[in-house]
Amino acid sequence: MMSSAETPRTKPRILVVEDEAHLAEGIRFNLEQEGYDVVVVGDGRSAVDHLADAARGPFDLVILDLMLPEMSGYEVARRTRASGNFVAILILTAKDDEADVVRGLEEGADDYLTKPFRLNELLARVRGLLRRRRWDGVETTSEPQRDVRVGDAVIHFDRFSIETPRETVTLTTREVGLLRALVDREGETVTRGELLEQVWGLRPDTRTRVIDSFIVRLRRHLEVDPSRPTHIVSVRGRGYRFER
Ligand code: CA
Repeated sequence: MMSSAETPRTKPRILVVEDEAHLAEGIRFNLEQEGYDVVVVGDGRSAVDHLADAARGPFDLVILDLMLPEMSGYEVARRTRASGNFVAILILTAKDDEADVVRGLEEGADDYLTKPFRLNELLARVRGLLRRRRWDGVETTSEPQRDVRVGDAVIHFDRFSIETPRETVTLTTREVGLLRALVDREGETVTRGELLEQVWGLRPDTRTRVIDSFIVRLRRHLEVDPSRPTHIVSVRGRGYRFER
């Protein structure tokens, strides 16, 4: 496995949002051992402030607790996405109720891990999210169809972006995963259950609006008229189908 030290970039920066000081310091210590640059904050408001503080430079990943003083982790995730920041977000929470996890994903988190967790598992998730977020092209994949043209737009899978005639839109890890799942089976219906399982790691019968809200956002960028989609087509009662 490639270590972060081998990349030409500066060290990945990680924001740890955790109010249990002992746990936060343990996480910091281990991430620093892995070569990451780590900032720890103990409440939701400070997290939002740090993420908005462009002068100190962007973060590559946020490890986010849900139950926090001042502002919940859900609210931190929601505000982060609403401000146009698509930093990778990993929720780390003692709330292992599926509804809580689902809500975190609906607010825009990319991944989640429940406490108590194994350190190796956390480090593996962190590496996975950072690898998928690497922009500099050092680790380009050999996957086919890295760029897919859809009408006037181009999906750049390796750059996590959609380029339209108006703008370049940055995608989250899950948005890329969702697009990949649909594009790879172009012309076929992919069921909601398959998407929940494959893209979010949830049980296929999970009750959630998470897919719908992601589809709405993707259509805004890929469809000429998002209310009459021709590329990401709804298949009533079943799922979605991608058409070029
Ligand atoms: Ca907490």
